[in-house]
Amino acid sequence: SAGQITADMIEVLSKKSFPLCMQHLHQVLKREHHLKHGGRMQYGLFLKGIGMSLEEALKFWKTEFIKLIDGDKFDKQYAYNIRHNYGKEGKRADYTPYSCMKIIMSNAPGPGDSHGCPFRHTDAEMLKQKLRTNGLSKDAIEEVMTTTKRGHFQLACSKYFEYIHGGVTGDGDVPNFQHPNQYFEESQKRLN
Ligand code: SF4
Repeated sequence: SAGQITADMIEVLSKKSFPLCMQHLHQVLKREHHLKHGGRMQYGLFLKGIGMSLEEALKFWKTEFIKLIDGDKFDKQYAYNIRHNYGKEGKRADYTPYSCMKIIMSNAPGPGDSHGCPFRHTDAEMLKQKLRTNGLSKDAIEEVMTTTKRGHFQLACSKYFEYIHGGVTGDGDVPNFQHPNQYFEESQKRLN
């Protein structure tokens, strides 16, 4: 996506159009003013994928991190990695945002980590609570949880999407998401 996504748009977008994995990372970042490496990678590359420029990304991360550490420390310890994700440091590779498969299958989150896929890695009770908070009905929660328990994580995510975007039965024409950025694009299409 080549859209112009600025740092100050993220709060609203995270509520409307982010899949649960990225919404969670955003909430943790806002709450703790920090994300561990796995979370910074997963979330940072996603933000790049939705069209956030390097300049905006630096602003976005710095605004949050300097609530806890000073700007100098941010510049020394974290700015490099952000530039790196944009191919401006190191091998200058252009790093791509992670697919659902990669998020689900590799680098499972440990204690204190916030990355991963909530349908795969979040405790069932906490996931249920999140679905409730986000406004799903009892029946909708039931269906998403059943799908999750069967191990169909991406399908559960699609059903969640359908409910969030006004679907009634959760079996609408939503694709089985392969990528968090696909979820975002699809959501923006529906809302705009
Ligand atoms: Fe994120 Fe993909 Fe999991 Fe949905 S299925 S929450 S987009 S990793």
